[in-house]
Amino acid sequence: MISAEDLAFDAAHIWHPYTSLTSPLPVYGIKSAQGCELMLSDGRILIDGMASWWACIHGYNHSRLNAAMADQLSKMSHVMFGGITHQPAIDLAKLLVEITPDTLETVFFSDSGSIAIEVALKMALQYWIGVGATDRNQFVTVRGGYHGDTYHAMSVCDPVGGMHSLFASSLPKYLFADRPQVQFNQSWNESDFESLRSLVLQNSKVVAAIVIEPIVQGAGGMHFYHPTYLRRVRELCDEVECLLILDEIATGFGRSGKLFAMEYGKIVPDILCLGKALTGGYMTLGATMTTRSVANGISASGPLMHGPTFMGNPLACRVALESVRLVLEMDWLGQVGRIELGLRRGLEPVRMLKSVADVRVLGAIGVVEMKDPIDVAVVQRELVNRGVWVRPFGKLVYVMPPLCISDEQIVCLTGAIVEVCGLK
Ligand SMILES: *Cc1c(COP(=O)(O)O)cnc(C)c1O
Repeated sequence: MISAEDLAFDAAHIWHPYTSLTSPLPVYGIKSAQGCELMLSDGRILIDGMASWWACIHGYNHSRLNAAMADQLSKMSHVMFGGITHQPAIDLAKLLVEITPDTLETVFFSDSGSIAIEVALKMALQYWIGVGATDRNQFVTVRGGYHGDTYHAMSVCDPVGGMHSLFASSLPKYLFADRPQVQFNQSWNESDFESLRSLVLQNSKVVAAIVIEPIVQGAGGMHFYHPTYLRRVRELCDEVECLLILDEIATGFGRSGKLFAMEYGKIVPDILCLGKALTGGYMTLGATMTTRSVANGISASGPLMHGPTFMGNPLACRVALESVRLVLEMDWLGQVGRIELGLRRGLEPVRMLKSVADVRVLGAIGVVEMKDPIDVAVVQRELVNRGVWVRPFGKLVYVMPPLCISDEQIVCLTGAIVEVCGLK
């Protein structure tokens, strides 16, 4: 049990994600986690609806992932990547090159999703320098996006509703089109693409790349947009000859019902960012993949100027290798389909509630959008009291559980959400 004294220390000294230090939201002590369950330090057990923010797809304390980590730990947990290489990085890169579209041939390993985005943006800029089109230094994206919290990643996140509006005055100003409106399962309407199309055409000679999350806009609002929109993005990039950067950091490795959400649009990006579930939630690791032609363009201007201390960390690469192998061995599509069905059934009753604006499910992602902002501390406590771990934000109560969640656990998880959403 974490002592009251330690919790007080935590509140006074330790920053948690997106909190104030003077009036922090409550935190819950966790002492261990197993499968799809978190054990609170007071012994209560919670069903996990978050997969630790998309990452922990195989559940916690997984024997194969543990064994892979232990094996690597006994050999070397870290070594610099400058002038050195190692089997975990090589094997993981081989596997990523194999399972992603054929044209994505090169891999840059970095520390996290945000850094994978930073690297992608730098790659795009350096590519245009390399091929002699230095005017192409603008990024275009859509509102409602989220690409991370580091400085340049912030500049392509939603500028208003996003988490970073405080910094707006010191961020580079890039070009934002309207958020895609036609939802995943609605019928396509060509006018949805007009905003992005006209913005890009007006700036066609200065756009370095379009940056977008394929199909699922995650932390920017949990919207699922239409596959045709994604197709149109690719066509537009080809038309004006700019690069396409896809951010699959949240969606990669099966979550959306495709191994990669870009498959819904049957398109391939020039640069692809991976993270989160890449290591099965065991370690922090990002990967930025690109085509041979982009790699050649970048290299024409010299070396790519990025090289974090923990680049290609062997522990992270080894556990990622094992996690991706597990995905490929398991019936991930069957599991995601089963979870999708369970979430649809279980969340459907909230549609009746006056306080609820929308319910949507895609793959193993379930979203309840309320009409009003949620009191996170209260809702969180009510959910914990009902034995589930769900972290609401804004107007959203959303889940993306580990893929090993059982049908009974889905019933408990969704049942608790239905009850709590109906409380007031
Ligand atoms: C989480 C996330 C990021 C940032 O990844 P971090 O590992 O938190 O830096 C970027 N893009 C998307 C779509 C994400 O969901």
